[in-house]
Amino acid sequence: MVEALKEALYSLLFPKETRCLACGAPVRSGELCEPCTHAWLHTAQAIRISCVDSADWAYAGLSYTQVVRSMIHRYKYECVRTAADILAEPMVRIMPDGVQGLVPVPLHPRRERWRGFNQSELLCERICAATGVSVLPALSRVRFTREQALLDPKSRERNVRGCMQVCAPVYGMRLLVVDDVVTTGSTASECVNELLNAGAAWVGVLCAAHPMGRK
Ligand SMILES: [Zn+2]
Repeated sequence: MVEALKEALYSLLFPKETRCLACGAPVRSGELCEPCTHAWLHTAQAIRISCVDSADWAYAGLSYTQVVRSMIHRYKYECVRTAADILAEPMVRIMPDGVQGLVPVPLHPRRERWRGFNQSELLCERICAATGVSVLPALSRVRFTREQALLDPKSRERNVRGCMQVCAPVYGMRLLVVDDVVTTGSTASECVNELLNAGAAWVGVLCAAHPMGRK
């Protein structure tokens, strides 16, 4: 209680300097500095994801440009949660019709504890707030896996095989798997396959960013 009061008083006396979510430069208002806002406007476009074969629909809201990369990095590894609002916006814009549930790509509880939040879940919550489509945590990790970013494409596939399990009724549903970045599509494919095997009628993939042309 005393600590909370102290903290409130401190932030009142010394308001935090606002910094650009992408490059860290000081900004007077908003979340991105001027050059990053400019870069951002050119980066918001629907990118088709071709590496998730089993998905009925797979798109990213943004191409993986420098400004997007930095922002996702700060979002994920420095826990800058406000970035979720900005990242979710282009995702909302390209949402397909008729989706009944947003399925976050689950983190293993150990990784979630370490990170403090699940970046996919937070994106789902933002999309839900904007569209009214509910979040359905239908998948769970049954095995701890190495971080995909550290592996080559072949090992990524092996790394995630069989690591997901459906933990909610999904039969006959139209679902959208939501993630921050889809790169080789191994994790997203694993999610899609599990949901389809459990009887989902239609499964799409929606992510914030996808590196175009990279397999
Ligand atoms: Zn910036």
